[in-house]
Amino acid sequence: MIARLITLAALLGACASPAPWASYELRFQSGLSESDREAVLTGSSLWAAHVDWTTGPDYDEAQDAPSVVFVEVVEPSHPIAAYNPAWYAWATTSDGKRRVVHLVAGRWGKSAPFVAHELGHAMGLDHAGGHGRLMSANVDVGGPTSEDWAALCQAHRCQGVAQ
Ligand SMILES: [Zn+2]
Repeated sequence: MIARLITLAALLGACASPAPWASYELRFQSGLSESDREAVLTGSSLWAAHVDWTTGPDYDEAQDAPSVVFVEVVEPSHPIAAYNPAWYAWATTSDGKRRVVHLVAGRWGKSAPFVAHELGHAMGLDHAGGHGRLMSANVDVGGPTSEDWAALCQAHRCQGVAQ
């Protein structure tokens, strides 16, 4: 009997995964190419250790939920993209609700770290100073560092900092 209880406890322990710090639903601009969608999903996976990403129906202007992140690709002629030819993407939020990641066609290079950086902004993270972090302005690493994880954890009032 004791052996069976221990086995059950071991099984429960193996199945119990920590609750994610955040849950978001990705919604794509309608007409976004399959390769663009794939690249965005790869970028979102870089945050997947503590973020539960799901995908919903395509972009719907009427949706304004805080847990939804819209992703759209804009032309380089877009006024904000044209303002600074070096910008490959940007993220906007308003009132903690509408979260949109704008990727500039031909500039973002379908880069997963670039997407993950913008998703970081959409999740409430500001730029980290200096270099060597996903949330550094230059995005000079391939994924979240321990400091990026700590910032996300803090932004979502998680319990403790699990690496
Ligand atoms: Zn940025």
